[in-house]
Amino acid sequence: SPSYFTVIMLLSRLMVFIGISKNNYVLSSNLQALDIAPKLSRDPSAIASASQDYGLIVKSVPRTVLFPSSPQDIASLIKSNYDSSAPFTIAARGNSHSIRGQAMAKNGVVVDMTWLNKNSNQTGIRVSDDEKYVDVGGEQLWIDVLNVTLRSGLSPVSWTDYLYLTVGGTLSNAGISGQTFRYGPQISNVYEMDVITGKGDFVTCSPNNYSDLFYAALGGLGQFGIITRARIPLEPAPKRVKWIRMLYSDFSAFSRDQEHLISKNERADQTALNYVEGSLLLNQGSLDNFRSTFFPAQEQPKIISLITKYGIVYSLEIVKYYDDQTTATVDKDLHQLLKGLSYLPGFLFEKDVGYVEFLNRVRSEELKLRSKGIWDVPHPWLNLFIPKSRMSDFNDGVFKGIVLQRKITTGPLLLYPMNRNKWDDRTSASIPEEEIFYTVGFLLASGFDNWQAVDDQNKSVLEYCEKAGIEVKQYLPHYTTKEDWISHFGSKWNTFQQRKQQFDPKFLLSPGQSIFNNNS
Ligand code: FAD
Repeated sequence: SPSYFTVIMLLSRLMVFIGISKNNYVLSSNLQALDIAPKLSRDPSAIASASQDYGLIVKSVPRTVLFPSSPQDIASLIKSNYDSSAPFTIAARGNSHSIRGQAMAKNGVVVDMTWLNKNSNQTGIRVSDDEKYVDVGGEQLWIDVLNVTLRSGLSPVSWTDYLYLTVGGTLSNAGISGQTFRYGPQISNVYEMDVITGKGDFVTCSPNNYSDLFYAALGGLGQFGIITRARIPLEPAPKRVKWIRMLYSDFSAFSRDQEHLISKNERADQTALNYVEGSLLLNQGSLDNFRSTFFPAQEQPKIISLITKYGIVYSLEIVKYYDDQTTATVDKDLHQLLKGLSYLPGFLFEKDVGYVEFLNRVRSEELKLRSKGIWDVPHPWLNLFIPKSRMSDFNDGVFKGIVLQRKITTGPLLLYPMNRNKWDDRTSASIPEEEIFYTVGFLLASGFDNWQAVDDQNKSVLEYCEKAGIEVKQYLPHYTTKEDWISHFGSKWNTFQQRKQQFDPKFLLSPGQSIFNNNS
């Protein structure tokens, strides 16, 4: 009878409630017994910020937030948790610029890494005496790494477009930008790391020492340990950059030129480019779009009519660094590099800016968007890696099909190629098998009530790729099923799983990635 089912349902709800309460109680009493208890907070504002991220799409409420003063605090939390009979999940939260709750821990503990920076005894950012590398805390922002190393006239070589991201956060993914074709992603530019594993062990690892953990953690989506220090190679910093954008109406000419430009990619070759990216310009009546303020105001009407004519215009973006020694030769080198390219005549635009102004370019866009109140809005982003052999199909089906039809133009659409041989296959990062692959970033924003439309477009893009047999990999991946994760890692899945057993056997770290735990 219905009343019988009602009773059963109520009883089962009660049992679930008792289970959750018991778990919470155990969690609280375990935590209260720790010597780091005073650094754990249930303050509503701490809980609220740990429950959201840059994406503003998902929300997962943690039980408590750890504000560590040292890596030892983190090790102590993880160790006692690992030894407990009712362990909880733990997520490192860098600058929380993830999109889908990757740095969250529902009912668990979020470790606010930025707090480490408040203690001056910690690693911080320290350039070595021989000026060959910099030791940086996992919590440090790349902008701060840049500012400190520049004081010694030095700089890391591999970057992300945006620098207000933590070192631990980008090394857990890959860290890519226009420099990747030549220098590799950031995970190819690390000498050594301190990592606290899921068992609470504090391990200094490198290619020669505990190399399993070293490669596991690089691109490891936070699954194997918390990175508390990374040793990053340095090179002399350039002073200025020549920054050029060229426009194309034809995709095959554009991609042919991009691939040609990334073929000259020896690290030591002083005549090679330092940065190659690209983006789509879409018909939206203006160029007032995140990252498109590059073009001089007087040229914009001409560019807008080009876009109106073709629907899509492809913008190839390159940079050549220079300093006092190379000022005299940089233009000649650039001229040589641009010889034979097929951009539309009259559509080459050039800037000459300082090195920091170039690297920190997204910050000025951020400040503009903030002033208009459109920075802290939902960001249903989709980032893909696509094998070169299928880019033309992707262009036809996605850019000229889905994107043109839906007309969602609230953010940049990036696309640029990279060389696989600059990636180290021993890391956890999963990339396409082909020697050249593209990254495509749909970096679209929305209002609070219409992010679903953007997300629907993302779904259509993925469905199109699946139907067309285009083997894409997501970058900054978000999957909801185990099968999708297995397929994402492909031949790396077994190793990924074995490493998880080895370094986080109770599956406690980074639950927000939803690989081994369901965090929803
Ligand atoms: P969080 O979002 O805090 O964390 C990300 C993941 O790493 C989580 O799983 C977290 O648990 C884990 N984690 C964090 N810190 C540690 C640590 N110390 N040890 C182990 N695990 C840790 N990416 C690029 O590659 N190139 C770009 O050009 C680029 N541009 C971006 C621009 C913007 C505006 C934004 C918002 C993001 C961009 N990203 C880019 C993506 C960015 O690299 C990732 O979202 C990265 O994770 C953000 O770093 P975070 O410090 O905010 O990490």
